[in-house]
Amino acid sequence: MAKVFVVNITKQPLNPVHPGQARLLLRKGKAAIYRHYPFTIILKAAERAPTVHPLRLKIDPGAHTTGLALLNEATGEVVWAAELTHRGFAIKRALEERRAVRRSRRRRHTRYRKPRWANRRRGAQWVPPSLESRITNILTWVARLARICPLSALSLELVKFDLQALQNPEITGIQYQQGNLMGYELREYLLEKWQRMCAYCGKGQIPLQIEHIVSRAKGGTDRTSNLALACEACNQAKGDQHARDFLANKPEVLARILAQAQAPLRDAAAVNTTRWKLFERLKATGLPLETGSGGLTKYNRTRRNLPKMHWLDASCVGKSTPEHLEVNQVGPLLIRATGHGNRQMCGVKDGFPIRHRKQQKVHHGYQTGDLARAVVPTGKKAGTYVGRVLARATGYFDLITKAGRIEGVSARYCRPLHRNDGYSYQQRASLRSLSESHHPAY
Ligand SMILES: [Zn+2]
Repeated sequence: MAKVFVVNITKQPLNPVHPGQARLLLRKGKAAIYRHYPFTIILKAAERAPTVHPLRLKIDPGAHTTGLALLNEATGEVVWAAELTHRGFAIKRALEERRAVRRSRRRRHTRYRKPRWANRRRGAQWVPPSLESRITNILTWVARLARICPLSALSLELVKFDLQALQNPEITGIQYQQGNLMGYELREYLLEKWQRMCAYCGKGQIPLQIEHIVSRAKGGTDRTSNLALACEACNQAKGDQHARDFLANKPEVLARILAQAQAPLRDAAAVNTTRWKLFERLKATGLPLETGSGGLTKYNRTRRNLPKMHWLDASCVGKSTPEHLEVNQVGPLLIRATGHGNRQMCGVKDGFPIRHRKQQKVHHGYQTGDLARAVVPTGKKAGTYVGRVLARATGYFDLITKAGRIEGVSARYCRPLHRNDGYSYQQRASLRSLSESHHPAY
């Protein structure tokens, strides 16, 4: 299990502790639960001059999911890990929906309104809302972790490949044997250059192999401008032929491949907008920030024999990664960004209003999305339930539990566990317990 975060009586972060120790502190009444996600306890008595060990947060940003890993560099132990799922595509969809509703309203001339779209300005820092939300998701979690653990440094996977490390690969022939760092950087570079597709048949989303356009048997070099990516089938079919002979009856494919092979890829191609903005805003936090390449991450992960998971990729970001990583105890917290609802007061269907809602969001002390425990003493629904609240003005809530929806639970029987904070949570089992369940002990 991941460690439990601890804050002292003045809410200063202390060293995370083993869950067993946290249980003991809670049972003895020396601590109380501070937050459920991520699980944090608060000590009731002041600690005398506590020594804290600094932790490094490693970040592997992705379009769908970002890996987070909190590492104790002195011991190589991953203390806590998470996989943060963004809602970038949901935001895009919601904005398009809103735009359509507004557009149709203006077209209907229900009232006179001057055109407004000519007076908008985008600031220099502007990024599309879907990307902005990914950046702010990550910044939110950096800030949250900094409040509950002694965070002292950050590592970020900024670039996909490190062109400086490749020393101008278009000119220098380099060793790209499987297994060395250059090989991984080169592979990431070629994936970007050939758009993750087989150069010969254009298939994507399949394993690709590095391939010589002019085969070495025909005098081809190891220069990057002579390297392409091919699927297993095409690579086998081509064998040690020259690309010219292999594509003798497909001149247009040959021309495209030769042109693409000669076009050098700029360093800028390795960084996308989101990562670059994230880098700038993480730097503004003032924490020391280390950056690494995707090639390095993959090299580190493969050499340590770790499976491909977002949080393990994150653990392997950057040059500072310790030789031995202790990851077996940890299971990632799956964090899904859910947003905070919308401001739409009138729901529409086919452009017609179908429902209106009240301005009030908080009913009887609860908001929709809060996690609560309900203990119903008597009646048909007697029992204990833990789930998300659907808050209603009547004071009778629905609870969304793992087992399903429990309807009409009175607010009186509910106790809040975790207030809606724009994310939903799920704990995944640790690597060790996963491997035990695959190989059960008899
Ligand atoms: Zn192919």
